Amino acid sequence: MTIQAGVLYIVATPIGNLGDISTRALEILRQVSRIAAEDTRHSAALLRHYAIDTPMLSLHEHNERHKLEELLGRLQGGEQLALISDAGTPLISDPGYHLVQRCHQAGIKVVPIPGPSALITALCASGLPTDRFSFEGFLPNRSAARSARLEPLKDDPRTLVFYESPHRILDSLQDMVAVFGPERSAVLARELTKTFETIHQDSLAALSEWVAADANQQKGEIVLLIKGAEPDPEQALSPEARRLAAILAEELPLKQAAALAARISGEKKNALYQFLLEQK
Ligand code: SAM
Repeated sequence: MTIQAGVLYIVATPIGNLGDISTRALEILRQVSRIAAEDTRHSAALLRHYAIDTPMLSLHEHNERHKLEELLGRLQGGEQLALISDAGTPLISDPGYHLVQRCHQAGIKVVPIPGPSALITALCASGLPTDRFSFEGFLPNRSAARSARLEPLKDDPRTLVFYESPHRILDSLQDMVAVFGPERSAVLARELTKTFETIHQDSLAALSEWVAADANQQKGEIVLLIKGAEPDPEQALSPEARRLAAILAEELPLKQAAALAARISGEKKNALYQFLLEQK
């Protein structure tokens, strides 16, 4: 494979198991002029494992903006650079956004080399719906700010995916119980692809108790997934069906009115009955 000059490669690396790297990623890391790594000491272990001796330079959250022009100059001078992060896919709760944005502005080609990301790894094994999901990254440290971030997500029907840190997991679960309710389904996905990989599903209240009772569940790297809100059955009813049920309920017992309204409108009998009960 011949790589192109003046290109920035965004290379995904393993999230734990060193075997989870593509052959294309290894070829790119071997052939580029330089690898921009979040933590060069951390990534040295991966490169050593695959006998890759490409020089590295550091690009992290605190120096990204400062290093932009240097990296751009290298790319414009014809160097090929690979961007990697400590784990998984760069830019996903990791540095690189400013660099990629700047490359697009400057007409420099950006080539993704896909691979693992903790959010997709957790989602696909969670048992929660995957057709629609919202990646929410890390929540704020402080409880008040965290609850304020969670509140607008309360009625979101999509699966919610959060990155969590071990020292905050219990506090976050407690805030989630308060905002989403104790019965909402949730999944703790911990240490994915590693020795102590754990994927545990339960209601938020039970999950919170389980984590509190076992200090091991408060260790390592964690993705927390929350099932989306169930649609409010009453909200799902059409205005015509509600009107019809209400008129029938003036003359008939509620159950009968709901059953008849369901036959005429094609809406769910239980939802109509629930609606009528709340109207009483
Ligand atoms: N760029 C990475 C990705 O593509 O997933 C994420 C980097 S972010 C700084 C690190 C967070 O990702 C961790 O705090 C944890 O929430 C999640 N994470 C990374 N590796 C993980 C693993 N093996 N198991 C569970 N969660 C993981």
